Amino acid sequence: MDHASRLDRLIAARERPLLVSSLINIRYLTGFTGTAAWLLVSPQRCLFVTDGRYGELATELAAGLRGTDVEVFTTGMLDALAGLIGDAPDVDVEAEHVTWAFLTSIQDKVPGTLHPSTGVVERHRMVKDDDEVAALTAAATAGDAAFSAIAGLAAAAASENELGEALIAAMRNAGGERADWPPIVATGPNAARPHHQTGARAIGNGLLLVDYGCTVDGYHSDMTRTVWLDGAPDTELLRLHRAVAESNQAGIAAVRPGATGHDVDEACRAVLRRYELEEAFLHSTGHGVGLQIHEAPSARRHSEDVLEPGQVITVEPGAYLPGVGGVRIEDMVLVTDEGHRVLTESPRDLVGA
Ligand code: ZN
Ligand code: ZN
Repeated sequence: MDHASRLDRLIAARERPLLVSSLINIRYLTGFTGTAAWLLVSPQRCLFVTDGRYGELATELAAGLRGTDVEVFTTGMLDALAGLIGDAPDVDVEAEHVTWAFLTSIQDKVPGTLHPSTGVVERHRMVKDDDEVAALTAAATAGDAAFSAIAGLAAAAASENELGEALIAAMRNAGGERADWPPIVATGPNAARPHHQTGARAIGNGLLLVDYGCTVDGYHSDMTRTVWLDGAPDTELLRLHRAVAESNQAGIAAVRPGATGHDVDEACRAVLRRYELEEAFLHSTGHGVGLQIHEAPSARRHSEDVLEPGQVITVEPGAYLPGVGGVRIEDMVLVTDEGHRVLTESPRDLVGA
């Protein structure tokens, strides 16, 4: 991963120092995967602060980052940070990633003013570079590999929980790391709850909704498929599935540079409206995926996020009927210069071939 270019881009865009506290943002900018660090990114340079446990790692990483001084502190990180901020008159802090206690402690130690800022590094993270796209694609491919084994995995699993574990194992075998969220495995009427808490219910022969993913190099995959395991599916569910599958395809077709998150959402919603199922669509259409499972941009009603080549978003319409069941189909879609490329390739049919 080319962290140096990312850091250079951020440094070039700064007019005053930014104190980066989010470990995800620090990972994005430096490759650091430890649990304690701060970055002070100034218009001319960047200072990397971490504690004694990660000194060696930080020094190693900093060697690949142009213009980065690494300061390693085994004690007194707050004093160290305050020293680095020095007498800078204005410093931006990541409002969404600091605690009140941290903020007041730093403010007590520096003469300048701390300003809340939001989404600075996150905006850089929205557009993925080639290495990031490769990692996201590999994660999506591991998800696909797990799905291709789903019939066998479901037959061998006694419960939703067991199938969830089997999906994780299958993704690991295919090169995925474990994601930081457990798979959603919902059977029968449980599928009517969009974020069903996977439990002890037996898999059975009927409706099965799986929403899961893994990471590769820290980058997430996220996909959902809804299948009917055995026999003839219920007619109501067939109709639900047809509507959601069409909605998913309409949403994917709307993904292109210049389209907004609202446009993608509306493309999905229009199909469900036609089937009189818009009321049964209980969540937004999609979200960006990267080092976090949910990140910018968003595909939802009123989203003004404008899609750009290099962004990766999910398209995941669903329809849920209490007592009957639910259907969701979720794909990861890369925005390309020409339009889009779908990263998750598993079949979307209700009944397997
Ligand atoms: Zn998902
Ligand atoms: Zn999702």
